[in-house]
Amino acid sequence: MPLRVYNVLTRRKEEFEPTQEGRVHMYVCGPTVYDHSHIGHAKLYVSMDTIVRYLRYQGYTVRYVQNITDVGHLLDTGEDRIMKGARRDRLEPMELVERYTRSYFKDMDALGVVRPDISPRASGHIPEQIALAQTLIDKGHAYEAGGSVYFDVSSWPEYGKLSGRRVDEMQSGARIAVLDEKRHPADFALWKKAEPEHILQWDSPWGRGYPGWHAECSVMAQKYLGQPFDIHGGGLENIFPHNEGELAQSEAAQGVPFANYWLLAGTLSLDGVKMSKSLGNTITIKEAVSRWRPLIIRAFMLSTHYRNPVDFSERAVQAAGKGWERINSAALRVRRRLGSAPDGDADPGFHDFSAAKRAEFLDHMDDDFNASAALGVLHEFTRGVNTLLGAAEEPTRGTLEEADGFYRQLAGDVLGILSEEVADSSSAEREAGLIELLIELRSQMRESASWAEADRVRARMKDLGVVLEDGPEGTTWRIAEEG
Ligand SMILES: [Zn+2]
Repeated sequence: MPLRVYNVLTRRKEEFEPTQEGRVHMYVCGPTVYDHSHIGHAKLYVSMDTIVRYLRYQGYTVRYVQNITDVGHLLDTGEDRIMKGARRDRLEPMELVERYTRSYFKDMDALGVVRPDISPRASGHIPEQIALAQTLIDKGHAYEAGGSVYFDVSSWPEYGKLSGRRVDEMQSGARIAVLDEKRHPADFALWKKAEPEHILQWDSPWGRGYPGWHAECSVMAQKYLGQPFDIHGGGLENIFPHNEGELAQSEAAQGVPFANYWLLAGTLSLDGVKMSKSLGNTITIKEAVSRWRPLIIRAFMLSTHYRNPVDFSERAVQAAGKGWERINSAALRVRRRLGSAPDGDADPGFHDFSAAKRAEFLDHMDDDFNASAALGVLHEFTRGVNTLLGAAEEPTRGTLEEADGFYRQLAGDVLGILSEEVADSSSAEREAGLIELLIELRSQMRESASWAEADRVRARMKDLGVVLEDGPEGTTWRIAEEG
């Protein structure tokens, strides 16, 4: 089945065809680094990461660019987020953004989110953003007023095509003082005049100032991915004004489409309530991973289709955790049994079952990256694996290798939910090697009639969950089943 994606721009599912064969250029709006990331960020970036992982699994060479917003942008209150954070933490603004950039990557690493290929920072692309504002002035799509530059929405009839909003419905959330210098309330800043106390500011043809929020994504996407590029990802909560603004100014400046496919993730609520700082109901990723294993949080995020909203609650995460453990415990048992499995090809019945489940899994992923349905297939596969492992007849090495490959590729490479114990085969192999070594030493003890020591080794290994069984053909071992 060819890959089909739901394109927010056209509001329908389309067959995915990249501009260059075999390559995908993808841009995702990154975080504003003025505080620790919250679980809403986890939902967004796990969703986007799974898309990237699947494209790579399908053989595409993906260039994944995600910006770091380290230049101040005004909150509804008129405050600048970065200056507010710097005051709160008593840090230099650049110290603040460095601290929270590192914090963000650390959180993402824990969630198994593969780092973007390029993480450009807004503060490193000021000349490009000034050039964009100048180009738009030159082309009649922007105007200067009071040291700021605004995009003129009335000059761009397509404004609103992404979010479906109409210009005459639009109200600006900005303060009255700003409204006065704008020609239309929906006009948005490409460049803002800086007050003297505004620390992050640069020279421009219009005086000292700083870029408007949408400008950075336009210039960084075009610089590193070209225009049009393939996929623009992000969160639905930023479709307006941010994504709409990016799109309008990029297309008005370059005269060609901005991005071919817009893939936007649904939002996250907390116990049924929208998560927001002002309501005080936010959970940071750090708080969440101190309570649950990070990959359980990841599995929870994938349990709903990426475009749908998801509600974060204790019960829902616990349920996702149980499912995650079932999958990982089966995958771990497969790996552990591999070392001592009898030689032989894969059992034909298991091979057919595995091939059918793999095809189902891929069909779901090809249907607009339906990881939630794919996860369901992984559960069905795990039921089959548990039957296999519980059968009287010992599965062959070939059968176990097939199961192991399924978990590694689909649960590991694509969904990113395989625990390190399973994913790190060298540790499983090392563990098996150490067990074999202890069995060998214990046999020598028994041969030299050191029965007490040999029994002690056996008892200690049992405490550690390794059961030894002495038979006529020597000693075998197995991992004690939990629960
Ligand atoms: Zn953006």
